Amino acid sequence: MGRARSPMASGNLASTGAAVGRTRSAFKSGTPARVHHNPFDDVLEQIDRAAAVLHPDPDALEPLRHPRRQVIVSVPVMMDDGHLRVFDGYRVVYDNSRGPGKGGIRYHPSVNLEDCTALAAWMAWKCAIVDIPFGGAKGGVACDPLKLSDGELERTTRRYISEIFDLIGPTVDIPAPDVGTSPRVMAWVMDTFSMKKGYVEPGVVTGKPIALGGSGGRLEATGRGLMIVTRETLRRVGRELGGSTVAIQGFGNVGSNAAKLLHAAGARVVAVSDVSGAIYDPHGLDVPRVGAYYRETGQLAGFPGTQLLDNQRLLSLPVDVLLPAAMESQITHRNAGEVQARIIVEGANGPTTPEADEILGRRGVLLVPDILANAGGVVVSYFEWVQDRYGYFWKEKDVNDSLEQKMVAAFDAVWTTRERFEVDARTAAYILAVERIMEARSLRGLYA
Ligand code: NAD
Repeated sequence: MGRARSPMASGNLASTGAAVGRTRSAFKSGTPARVHHNPFDDVLEQIDRAAAVLHPDPDALEPLRHPRRQVIVSVPVMMDDGHLRVFDGYRVVYDNSRGPGKGGIRYHPSVNLEDCTALAAWMAWKCAIVDIPFGGAKGGVACDPLKLSDGELERTTRRYISEIFDLIGPTVDIPAPDVGTSPRVMAWVMDTFSMKKGYVEPGVVTGKPIALGGSGGRLEATGRGLMIVTRETLRRVGRELGGSTVAIQGFGNVGSNAAKLLHAAGARVVAVSDVSGAIYDPHGLDVPRVGAYYRETGQLAGFPGTQLLDNQRLLSLPVDVLLPAAMESQITHRNAGEVQARIIVEGANGPTTPEADEILGRRGVLLVPDILANAGGVVVSYFEWVQDRYGYFWKEKDVNDSLEQKMVAAFDAVWTTRERFEVDARTAAYILAVERIMEARSLRGLYA
């Protein structure tokens, strides 16, 4: 993909118009070149799948195939050793028909424009499915946060936010944590934005520490949403969480909280993994003890009484539910045939490629798509934003109860759409999202 620098990178931002810094070449035809696996290809294929059922007016559908705004900025940072390093930073707003952009900030060496664009699109669909008044956005910095000191991480964050300052805000685009970022980083986002504005603006970012206007329940929200969705899916096939077996790829915010809450709800979590590999106990892991071991040692490998497996093996374990909660494109045409789980609940964004989807569908695996399954985080981010804007904070129980209602309503809406159109759950989720976004666009009309 070609790349375009935002005018901001040269300190020359004139407006927050739609075309700032956009890289268009690969998107023009709607069919980007397939030089390597680009998750935005998956987004386009999934839109096409929904359109094949909905038969929408092509003029109404076309804008959904294009990101509204893509920005690349330089993030120069003085390292502790006195040398300057320049990282690339990105921010994409895919759609804002239903409200301001909403989506995480990722710090990872692989962060690039294509990934941010796909992730921003998925955020737009996700917000529409859980029916919260946001569009979709995503951004990040191509850096390895594990190799940065606290000071370097703070300077990176502050400079990145300064570079995209004019494009974020509580009514414009509201960042949140993602892979490699944390409530600590969100605190620096809030402070940098507030200092530049000259007043305190907690609503510019969600996933903040509670002391700065964060919400009770936010840290666990994505995992809690996954537990709710797993429970509802099992119920639809006549099963309960109690006694069902689950394998979870990834033991970060999403994977570890899903493991904790599924275990607490009676599920048998038999395997969890991180980059170092997977631990497996067919009788079920003592998840709280695994969590404590992980916090102490920084790894899962070596947890007593478990077999160490590689990450690929985890994906093919004989379990009721497989919950990928690490990175994109983990289940592909190469390993989909080996999946033994009856149900896949996507905790990560885009863990299954479209080719793998087809294989799994043919094999009768019931797949609950990311844009429904992992939406708990953005739902509680929405509650956080509401609380910040009110300046009035809810009890954690009220947050969790409201999350339960939102997730069950979204699950029911997707399942009803699935039955109405006789499609798989992912296509149903896309149909629901595309319908809701197109309705908002149509009501707003075309500004010209
Ligand atoms: P995180 O950085 O806290 O954790 C990522 C985990 O994945 C770590 O345990 C890491 O060791 C593991 N991992 C990385 N590569 C792996 C591999 N190849 N095999 C096995 N494990 C691997 O990130 P997170 O916040 O938990 O996010 C995980 C996924 O969930 C991402 O796709 C993210 O976009 C998505 N997501 C996050 C949230 C949220 O609220 N944090 C919400 C929705 C979706």
